[in-house]
Amino acid sequence: MSYFLEGSLNPKTIQDFVGQHHILENLKIFIQAAKKRKEALDHILFHGPPGLGKTTLAHIVANELRVNLTVTSGSVLDKPGDLAGLLIHLKINDVIFIDEIHRLSPIVEEYLYSAMENYKIDIIIDSGSNARSVQIDLSPFTLIGSTTRSGLLTDPMRSRFGINFRLSYYEKELLNNIVNRSAKLLNIPITKEASHEISNRSRGTPRIANALLRRIRDFAQIKGNGIIDLHICNLGLQSLNVDQHGLDEMDNRILSYIIDHFKGGPVGINTIATAVSENSDTIEEVYEPFLIQEGYLIRTPRGRKATKLAYKHIKRNFKKIN
Ligand code: ATP
Repeated sequence: MSYFLEGSLNPKTIQDFVGQHHILENLKIFIQAAKKRKEALDHILFHGPPGLGKTTLAHIVANELRVNLTVTSGSVLDKPGDLAGLLIHLKINDVIFIDEIHRLSPIVEEYLYSAMENYKIDIIIDSGSNARSVQIDLSPFTLIGSTTRSGLLTDPMRSRFGINFRLSYYEKELLNNIVNRSAKLLNIPITKEASHEISNRSRGTPRIANALLRRIRDFAQIKGNGIIDLHICNLGLQSLNVDQHGLDEMDNRILSYIIDHFKGGPVGINTIATAVSENSDTIEEVYEPFLIQEGYLIRTPRGRKATKLAYKHIKRNFKKIN
């Protein structure tokens, strides 16, 4: 999911990548060891909410390994043949990145197993009564899978990744570093207070921090003097409907709906999705993880419940209703 053209702000090396220290420290070792042995790096799974840097890390891994990267997505690989076409073109120790790997169809997924395990695939040649299966050796390669929904991955798929990392939301200080780095790359002056404000309202997510920075730059250049200061920042954030805690319009609609129509819940995800006119996958992948992590929502076996903090946030009386 992309809010804007992101390329120019992407970190290209481990050194440029801000945060996720635990992952980077481990990756450095694994990359160095694979290079030393002249072997393909083990397959890697990155999982976590959108916009935290999974795709960026895949590019960085290939870059640090000095190999080619082939990028595809689980949602476009319809048939085993689509996957075979990509795999047979990989050169020794190359990286193939499959975004949204949870969307692979079962038949493509199964086809991937022997490619991942033995670097071999079976392809069918000829047709009709002459059709026969031929095994082809692939060059050793690294598969990097990325998913926002690791719960939807099958156990056999998950177990074929030797390296498995969960990316977590970024602390405000780290987001502040990202905002300052991006402002420098975009060549836009920003005050300390403004960069803090953007970091505080970016839902712990670098993609949102960069998106807000770009939009507020527009306000600074049209409504201000080209500098992002606190005044321009607040003006922009208000126009973009981002509140003081970083919750946007959809977050607030979700909380209001649960509180006003269901006395705080529990409510099923599909009911919420219909009410706020949003796809239930998007609610589960994008909105809910942040609302849960910040303490506005809890998941129960019977559905989602708003917390006391959510009542306070949307200015409803918690005691009266519950
Ligand atoms: P999705 O699951 O939606 O595909 P993702 O986790 O793959 O998202 P990316 O596309 O890698 O996220 O990152 C989103 C944006 O945030 C990119 O512009 C990237 O440059 C920036 N970004 C992500 N992580 C960092 C970081 N640690 N430091 C600096 N910029 C980052």
